[in-house]
Amino acid sequence: MIKIIKAVIFDLDDTLYNEMDFVKEGFKCVASFLSRKYHLDEKKLFEDILEILKLKGRGKIFDTLCKKYNIKEDIKTLVEIYRKTSSPLQIYDDAKEVLESFNGKYKMGVITDGKASVQWNKINNLGIEKYFDKIIVTDDFGEKFWKPSEFAFMEMIKFLGCKACEAVYVGDNPRKDFIGARKVGLYTVRIIREQGDNMCLEAEHGYEAHNSINNLMELSSIIKNI
Ligand SMILES: [Mg+2]
Repeated sequence: MIKIIKAVIFDLDDTLYNEMDFVKEGFKCVASFLSRKYHLDEKKLFEDILEILKLKGRGKIFDTLCKKYNIKEDIKTLVEIYRKTSSPLQIYDDAKEVLESFNGKYKMGVITDGKASVQWNKINNLGIEKYFDKIIVTDDFGEKFWKPSEFAFMEMIKFLGCKACEAVYVGDNPRKDFIGARKVGLYTVRIIREQGDNMCLEAEHGYEAHNSINNLMELSSIIKNI
């Protein structure tokens, strides 16, 4: 049976752009701040941050860095600088093409998790608001509304004025992106790129998307054949 799809809804991080781009810009701002304040080599600081990230993950990077340089800086200040980075970011080329070609054909939305101020900052830095009829940052409603909650999907289709079966959700994370969306009744598509934290994750049974793609340009043919 061929369904008429009226709305296409996207996840943000690692679906429309490479989240590591934001992370790196944030780290650059922190390195710049510390280099000015403590007369340290900015490039070396940035390289050290990336090294700590590689070895220890995202948890305690700034603590480890300050210990290494023997500086007593308020970690909260550094976290704020990181979160508020205003460097412009680029969406993926395929995302740009798809968003432009879908303009006017489908209602368009974004549903994204993460600290609200940071997600809105990313959206501003990417300059993508113009592409969408509705952007839902789930954290604006509280942490219990983060995916896999069904809430944002129901809100989104209500706002876009379509039924769940007329909407598609595209995301990258099989641990949470498709669960709520499937429960509500959306068709789900997983994007598997070369880069991104979730690209190698295996979904548990029942948590996988209906379909998967390696490039968002594949979306239009998928949508025509749902
Ligand atoms: Mg994501």
